[in-house]
Amino acid sequence: MSQDRKKLIAKAKRIVIKIGSAVLTGAGEGLDQKRIEQLAAEISAIMDQKREVIIVSSGAIAAGLAKLGLKKTKGMPLPLKQAAAAVGQSRLMWMYEKTFATHDKKVAQILLTREDLSNRTRFLNARSTLHTLLEHDVIPIINENDTVAVAEIKFGDNDNLSGMVVHLADADLLVILSDIDGLYTSDPRIDSHAQFIPLVEKLTAEVERGAGDAQSLVGTGGMRSKLMAAKKVGAYGVPMLIVNGKKQGMLRSVFEGVEVGTFFLPKAVRNRSRQHWIAYTACTNGGVIVDDGGRDALENKGKSLLPGGIVRIEGTFKAGDCVHCADRSGNIFARGLSKYSSDDLEKIKGLKTSQIEGVLGHKDYDEVIHRDDLVIL
Ligand code: GLU
Repeated sequence: MSQDRKKLIAKAKRIVIKIGSAVLTGAGEGLDQKRIEQLAAEISAIMDQKREVIIVSSGAIAAGLAKLGLKKTKGMPLPLKQAAAAVGQSRLMWMYEKTFATHDKKVAQILLTREDLSNRTRFLNARSTLHTLLEHDVIPIINENDTVAVAEIKFGDNDNLSGMVVHLADADLLVILSDIDGLYTSDPRIDSHAQFIPLVEKLTAEVERGAGDAQSLVGTGGMRSKLMAAKKVGAYGVPMLIVNGKKQGMLRSVFEGVEVGTFFLPKAVRNRSRQHWIAYTACTNGGVIVDDGGRDALENKGKSLLPGGIVRIEGTFKAGDCVHCADRSGNIFARGLSKYSSDDLEKIKGLKTSQIEGVLGHKDYDEVIHRDDLVIL
C-alpha cells in the first residue's frame, strides 16, 4: 500500500494545503512569523516542481485576538470572534503577501461562506475564479468569511472547508497541517497506549471512534472533522494526508516520498462533480421520508423518486433545493434536488403521478427527485 501512497503523492499536480491555527500561532499568541517563513519556503519549493498550490489558512481569529490583547475562551460571543477575525485576517494576509514575495510568488485572498458554495451558480463562479488565479501562477489563500458567517451558514471549521475546496479546485491531494503527527488509535494526549496509524485504507466506524475529538486550544476542528474531510475528498477520488505542521521540513519530506503523517486512500470509484456537490456541498433545509419500496427503488433499482414513495416531509424548502431522503427510522441514505417545494409535496405525497395535476392544478414533472439529481450516500 505504501506504493499507492508514493504514486498518488508523486502524481499530484494540484494540491490543497490546509494550515491550522495551532500551526501558525502559539497558544494564545499571535502569528508566528518564523513558522510562516518556513512554510512559505517549503510551499514555494513544491511549486517550483511544477505543482499548483492552494492554501486554506486558519489563524485569523487567533491573530486578531492576540492583537486585541484577548485570549480565546469557551463560549466567547460570536460578534467578538467575528471582530477578531476582521482584525486578524488582514494581518494574516499581509504576512503571507510579504513572505511569499521573497520567493517571487503572488498570493490572492478568497473569503468564502457556506452559502457561496451551496449555491450552484456561485460555486461555479468561485471555481472559475480559482482556476483563473492558478493559470496566472497565483497562490489562492482561502479562509472562511468569519466576519459575516453566522451559525447557519458556517462551514464550521477549516477542515470541512478544505474538503470542499478540493472539489471546487479539482485538486489531486489534500494535505492537512496540524499540531499533531496524524491519527492514533486513541487520543495520545490522554492515552499513553495510543498507537500511530500511518495509513487508513478505509474509514470504518472503528477508526472514527478511536479518533475521538482531540482538539487544540486555538483551532476549531478536531480529529473528527479531519476524518469527515477525508471521507469527503475520498469520495471524490482524492487522497488526504495529515502531518504535523509545527515540525519544520514536513512538507518537503512529504514530496520527497518520506512516509510521514497519516495517509488516507481515496475511493477507487469517484463521484462525478455535480453528484459530489449534491452529496457534500449543497445545504439541505429539509427532506422526505420514504417507504421501504421507495428506498429500494432508489438504492437498488436506479429509479427516480416519485410522490407515491413519500410518507412524510421534513422542514421547508423550495423547488430546486437540495433535500435529504431518509427511511422511516430516520436513516438518511440519499440526497437530491427536489423538483417540488415542501408545500406542494405535502399535498401530493403518497399519490400516483397521474393525480399530481388534479391536486396542484399543474404538473411540471412526474418525479420529485430525478435520478440525475440524486446521490445515494
Ligand atoms: N476561520 C477561522 C480563523 O481563521 C478558523 C477556523 C478553524 O480553525 O477551523 O480563525
